[in-house]
Parts: sequence; C-alpha cells; structure tokens
Amino acid sequence: MALKYCQGPKCHTYTTQDRLKGIKGSKTFQTRRRSSFYYGNDNFCSLNCQNDWFDKHGDQAINHFGRTTEVKHLTEENAWVKDYDYNYRDDNPKSNYRSVNKITKEQRPLTESQYDDSTYTLNER
Ligand SMILES: [Zn+2]
Repeated sequence: MALKYCQGPKCHTYTTQDRLKGIKGSKTFQTRRRSSFYYGNDNFCSLNCQNDWFDKHGDQAINHFGRTTEVKHLTEENAWVKDYDYNYRDDNPKSNYRSVNKITKEQRPLTESQYDDSTYTLNER
C-alpha cells in the first residue's frame, strides 16, 4: 500500500522517536508517513498537525471556498436528519431507520439503503 505524508506543516518539528529516521550519524526528524491517518479526512497524523495546517491555511481556504457572511436558518424544509433505533431487534418487523424533522418532529420511515445513501435526503437543496 502506498504511503502518504502527514500534511501538517510542522509535523517534522515534533521530535518524537518515530519521526527520527535516516542512517546513523545523519538522522533527521521527518514528516510522518503512513498508509492512512485518523485525522482531517485521512490527511493528518494528529489533531495537532491538523490544527497547525488550519492555523497556516485556514483563512485562505475559507476565503477560497466561500466565507459565511450572513446568518443561516434551519427551517422545516431543511431540518430532516436520519435517525436509527438502537433498540431494534430482528423480530421487530418495523423499520429501524427513519427521517426526523428537527423542527416539526415529524418522522418518516426510511429503507436501509436510503439510510446508507449519503446523497439521499428529504431536505430541499
Ligand atoms: Zn503530522
């Protein structure tokens, strides 16, 4: 599996033993390389490195992708969230997946495939 680099701009400056690499006499602290990372959508080796990236690039990224400049409203039309009944038992024929409107509290049943489909929503877009 291909290794990738932690995107933290200061990753190599954290002097942990696992970052110390190279041949004897010329070892350096190096950016962590892993097949996968736990943080920041698989881009950072630690929350620290993720925060370093945001400190350095966050404003630029927000400006690039669009800064929120006015209040947003949660309305009946976009207040649908998916919910799951954790007490569901196999002998219970009722679907354990549902959409719940956070404003009106209305509930509508979902199929498992609708629940699993990240693009499926009752919200207006
Ligand atoms: Zn890192």
